[in-house]
Amino acid sequence: MIKVENVCKNFNKTHALHNVSLEVNQGDIISLIGPSGSGKSTLLRCIHGLETIDSGKIYLDGELMDRNNEKKFREQRNKMGFVFQHFNLFPNMTVLENCKLAQVEVLHKSDAEAETVALEYLDKVGLKEKRDSYPNNLSGGQKQRVAIAGIIAMRPRCIVMDEPTAMLDPKGRKEIMATIKTLNKENGITVVLITHYMEEAAKADRVIVIDKGNILLDDVPKRIFSQVELLKSVGLDVPQATELMYELKKCGLDVPDDIIDEDECAQVLYDILRSEERRVGKECRSRW
Ligand code: ADP
Repeated sequence: MIKVENVCKNFNKTHALHNVSLEVNQGDIISLIGPSGSGKSTLLRCIHGLETIDSGKIYLDGELMDRNNEKKFREQRNKMGFVFQHFNLFPNMTVLENCKLAQVEVLHKSDAEAETVALEYLDKVGLKEKRDSYPNNLSGGQKQRVAIAGIIAMRPRCIVMDEPTAMLDPKGRKEIMATIKTLNKENGITVVLITHYMEEAAKADRVIVIDKGNILLDDVPKRIFSQVELLKSVGLDVPQATELMYELKKCGLDVPDDIIDEDECAQVLYDILRSEERRVGKECRSRW
């Protein structure tokens, strides 16, 4: 659905992206991880057309995104929604008014039509009952869900998200990740997400690691996070479950390399404890 081909982007002497190529399939959830300043935001902003590129090509649905063709370029950009770290809501407008605004202003929908769609998506993110509240009366997670509902109400084919959970507490982060998963599953929305939280990155279909403007790794989460030392060498963390397994392995325990979530980790620990229990039991029985 998105194809980035040999894209370079410089800011004066800073080479933010060097010859970056990647493909995103329709319906995928992709996480983009990398140290601070590695080029993640620049890449998303180039994909969304918020930044010009110095060389290379970007295709959306097989069609070149070409700024010289202004009308087409605008239509292509409208197929993508951009979710920022900051919630981007108007404080003097209600939740419902916020979700209608872009539909009326950008897509020129009637007020009634925009309201129907806004309510549909507010329902989807679990906030229909907050339709008349003002953003200041919502939690961070709720504000971000309203922002997402407003963007999805534009019916994009894809949403790109620049650290949508960065301003949130753990509860808010969980709400957003659950919302992203639901929208992906039920509406087939493609998601490209920058995150600093490795537990979130591990929930994607694919993880792309960027370092110094280059793509370092591009693979499924289990294969990415099994490369603990490489990730640490570029200043990245791994999910806590992976870290624990890595430390146990260093102590000589025979544990798998590809554990990325808590449930798998709990199962491995349970199996180790059970087999140890059996071993000690056998030893005691043989002694007595
Ligand atoms: P990340 O999102 O991984 O933290 P960025 O894409 O924001 O990284 O930045 C990549 C590099 O480009 C950094 O060195 C950053 O300072 C530089 N950069 C980003 N945006 C601009 C800008 N508008 N002007 C100048 N330099 C920029």
